[in-house]
Amino acid sequence: MKIILLGPPGAGKGTQAKFISEEYFIPHISTGDIFRKNISEKTPLGIEAKKYLDEGKLVPDEVTINIMKNRLGMDDCKDGFLLDGFPRTVNQAKALDSYLGSVGQKIDVVLLIDVPKELIFDRMTGRRVCPSCGASYHIKYNPPKIEGKCDVCHSDIVQRKDDTQSTVKSRLDVYDKQTEPLIGYYKNQEVLSIVNGTGGINQVFENVKSNLKDIHK
Ligand code: ADP
Ligand code: ADP
Ligand code: ZN
Repeated sequence: MKIILLGPPGAGKGTQAKFISEEYFIPHISTGDIFRKNISEKTPLGIEAKKYLDEGKLVPDEVTINIMKNRLGMDDCKDGFLLDGFPRTVNQAKALDSYLGSVGQKIDVVLLIDVPKELIFDRMTGRRVCPSCGASYHIKYNPPKIEGKCDVCHSDIVQRKDDTQSTVKSRLDVYDKQTEPLIGYYKNQEVLSIVNGTGGINQVFENVKSNLKDIHK
């Protein structure tokens, strides 16, 4: 199955992606994770991307599209994949369509995680992540077993630099202006499937599975 996860920052894409990837045996590909890994390793890509992430702006399409083409060309993507955080602009979506078309593939479904703005702010500012293994938590809704420590690897968990109040605002703005138009784009292609993202983490996963049940692949 070839799935795109769409939704504002903080909607719960990464959280659901982990479950979906395990349930359907497809690789979870997150552009945000790719950028953050490169930033922590100080690669040339990381050095270039850092200024955009710090300000909550999008990394230029050209850079992002190239990374994704490389990633999608890898062996583990042959039978399916789950894209989390890509595409984020109409340009990226068109580039993805033309890349997939050139290798005889297409997207099966775009899951839009639908969450009202009031919940988003709370989800983003309460998010904590593990800098070592990438696991994600929430201080209220998904706390680690031991306060401040990652359940998986016991490292200290931290707040992402771009999850502070002022950057969150600009990221939501970027979403409205540059990413939201993708909803219409995929509606036109008749692949859009809207998931109610307001419940707890497990409830939302039930909603996801119920939406995916109807997708024949
Ligand atoms: P969130 O999970 O909150 O939606 P991500 O981890 O997906 O955030 O993205 C973090 C940052 O990485 C974005 O604010 C942006 O700077 C950059 N980024 C991620 N995906 C893309 C993309 N497809 N195009 C451009 N920039 C991106
Ligand atoms: P995204 O990848 O869309 O930016 P995340 O999956 O990182 O979003 O989730 C953002 C924050 O909200 C995290 O702290 C996560 O633990 C929390 N979260 C995710 N889904 C839910 C949910 N259904 N209810 C409450 N909190 C959630
Ligand atoms: Zn960890």
